[in-house]
Amino acid sequence: MHFKPVQCNYPGFYIFAPQTEQSMTNYMKPDTKFIHAGATPDPSTGAIMTPIYQTSTYVQSAPGKNKGFEYARSQNPTRKALEDALAVIENGKYGLAFASGVAATDAVIKLLQSGDEVIAGNDMYGGTYRLFTKVFEKFGIRFHYIDMHDANNIKTYINNNTKLIWLETPTNPLMNIVDIKAVTTLAKEKNILVCVDNTFASPYLQNPLDLGADIVMHSSTKYLGGHSDVIQGALIMNDPALREKLYFLQKSCGAVPGPMDCFLVLRGIKTLHLRMQRHCENGEKIARWLRGHSKIASVYWPGFEDHPNYSIAKKQMRGFGGMISFELKDDSIENANRVLSSTKLFSLAESLGGVESLINHPASMTHASIPREERIKNGLRDSLIRLSVGIEDAGDLIEDLEQAIGER
Ligand SMILES: *Cc1c(COP(=O)(O)O)cnc(C)c1O
Repeated sequence: MHFKPVQCNYPGFYIFAPQTEQSMTNYMKPDTKFIHAGATPDPSTGAIMTPIYQTSTYVQSAPGKNKGFEYARSQNPTRKALEDALAVIENGKYGLAFASGVAATDAVIKLLQSGDEVIAGNDMYGGTYRLFTKVFEKFGIRFHYIDMHDANNIKTYINNNTKLIWLETPTNPLMNIVDIKAVTTLAKEKNILVCVDNTFASPYLQNPLDLGADIVMHSSTKYLGGHSDVIQGALIMNDPALREKLYFLQKSCGAVPGPMDCFLVLRGIKTLHLRMQRHCENGEKIARWLRGHSKIASVYWPGFEDHPNYSIAKKQMRGFGGMISFELKDDSIENANRVLSSTKLFSLAESLGGVESLINHPASMTHASIPREERIKNGLRDSLIRLSVGIEDAGDLIEDLEQAIGER
């Protein structure tokens, strides 16, 4: 592979890249991309790892004369390396990094204006729901929360004001699968933007841009970072005009991640494929073990052959991941609490996607901002428990669940 100087997006700033960013997507197989995406030796020293450019500003030789970097809210080389990596791993042209997943979502909704309408799923991440209902409704944006399990359900809610479809698949926490291709096909006919929250699947398992989505959103806090040590978000897109609008919002609203955090996510991405392989293997073993358990009423995991949208999951995903939810037969908060406080390897905590296993109670934790009545209506029962299966030994994890739930 020949490294040659290539001008990057910032005029006058050269990086040493194999070719151009986009062409990297074409000739690298996924496992190579996760290692080499955005990784170019530092132009001034040859350092193989992207330096943490811990600076707020850049010296100019004359007013306006600079190397493409003016002020670190607008540009930072560590962030730029990460943003290039994000684009490559999602098969997109442009990546933008944000201070959190919610900040990335916030930027997407700020593309809209008062009077615009959004169609969103009815069992999505609680913080997204809170942002939509408690912040953006106030500004006159209208949201419809619907069951997207059949993509055709969307048709009923489309009108001339519909500007965005927001979808999550697999959904959180019920692991429903939405047919991305069917939704983007419907949306394209009406010129509606589609943004997919791809946090649960990660780019290792699913690439929504390839299925026609306009924007992919990530909470990089989860699988991309992978080590529960950073809060960050990302947007990836193909359309240069959309990139300009979102870049404008990124720098104008200012929710940018610091260079140290960008470095951590860049480092996380390098092992994404290895971690995801184990998340998937462990996830499958645990989902099947839970399903045969006498104290468990139901298990939600998209890899079950009788999952209502199994065929869609199989078509649009390369594996089923390590996120699993289940309900206890004795459906009460007290019973759930008993299990939640007895696991030893599974730590009781919000969040997901790290190397260590976590256990969570949506009703009182991640989805507590959704009123009970609304929550039950959307199928989130009191005893629903969500697991983020880590990359430990599967046998140890099963033993831990067994001592907490009881014998099969
Ligand atoms: C965590 C999460 C978010 C929010 O991301 P933050 O990084 O916590 O701001 C959005 N969507 C999903 C699916 C998540 O799991």
